[in-house]
Amino acid sequence: MKQGINRRLVNKVVLRLSQCLLVAVFWAMTYSIVKAFEQDDRAIAVLQYHHVSEETPFLTSIKPDEFEAHLDYLVQQKFDVISLSAFLERMKKGQLTSQKTAVITFDDAYTSIHDVAWPLLKERNFPFSVFVNTEAVDQKLRHSMTWSQMKAMAEQGVEFANHTSSHLHMIRKLDGETDKAWLSRIKAEIQSAESKIEQELGQSHKALAYPFGEYNPQIQALLKRMGYVGFAQHSGAVGVMSDLQAIPRFPFGGYYTSLDDFVTKVNALALPVNDVKLGLELSIDTLPDNHVLDELPPMKRKDWLYLHNETKPAVYFETMLSDTQAKQITCYASGQGRVPLALVGKEHEYHGFLVETVKAPPVGRSRFNCTLPSQWSGRFYWLSQPIIRLDKENRWYQE
Ligand SMILES: [Zn+2]
Repeated sequence: MKQGINRRLVNKVVLRLSQCLLVAVFWAMTYSIVKAFEQDDRAIAVLQYHHVSEETPFLTSIKPDEFEAHLDYLVQQKFDVISLSAFLERMKKGQLTSQKTAVITFDDAYTSIHDVAWPLLKERNFPFSVFVNTEAVDQKLRHSMTWSQMKAMAEQGVEFANHTSSHLHMIRKLDGETDKAWLSRIKAEIQSAESKIEQELGQSHKALAYPFGEYNPQIQALLKRMGYVGFAQHSGAVGVMSDLQAIPRFPFGGYYTSLDDFVTKVNALALPVNDVKLGLELSIDTLPDNHVLDELPPMKRKDWLYLHNETKPAVYFETMLSDTQAKQITCYASGQGRVPLALVGKEHEYHGFLVETVKAPPVGRSRFNCTLPSQWSGRFYWLSQPIIRLDKENRWYQE
């Protein structure tokens, strides 16, 4: 009798345990399926600053106390702040971690980096790097650091990399210039800046920040042949699939300096994008919201440069999206607010998404920005694509 009770008890326990196990297996499977859709959380935020001062041009400046608030946040949140050379090594080896990681960079070798930013960074033991346009230093331009100031910084571990010698618009070909002549002019600019930095500061990282963030596929290919990594200035987190000749950076300055804005950006995740295609006038605005197209319409643009009368540029990001993500992704164009979006693929199997401006973008540089909330962490995936529109005569605008 007693044995019978025990056996029944054992059976009951075994049944209960196996039910629990089933539930656990079910949840583990669901979790891993959902988790698989929730893409890679290994990301690095590369931050871009210019002046840290209240007396320099508004759009490229951040106030010292705002800059300090950014640094304090990185300390409080235990960010792994890594040097440019450490970043390059990790990217080349594809070694990204889930630990929150940031890289601090400055463009143009301005005096406030030496006078204001450096002491604040040193206090916190944060490595950082400066992309130098060497002619401005040679010409001792106003607001420019001197080679001896930079030498002192280099001796204490600050890294200096290439921002060309004359800070030129790399994509602007001269009138009548052949592709060959243009590319060799660009190559000479890069080499001359690199050897000047090496000669003055003893460093050669083979890392270049494109002046004005402007590049195109031919320049990317040139950098690749020369063994250089290229840093852009459109916002986005760097992930394992980021293009080494178009590393996104989050620019801070002007209207974008608040701590709230910084927190969202520095915590951003990278959507693994396989390919980006550019096109024109796809009439996405005539489709219902988040309409699903079976096939990608033809997108034949070679780069992101548009003529003046090409008023509705479109971009396709090839990336796998879950149903939830497909519903939640939102894109904006500069000065236009939210823009229409179409998905490509079929339900439960999206291969990517298309966006298009609703009206003519402004003459000059502007961009598409897309964000997507992460289901797990409260963080945001962030990616963007720059576009350029020529002026009324289809010529380069003044800058
Ligand atoms: Zn610059």
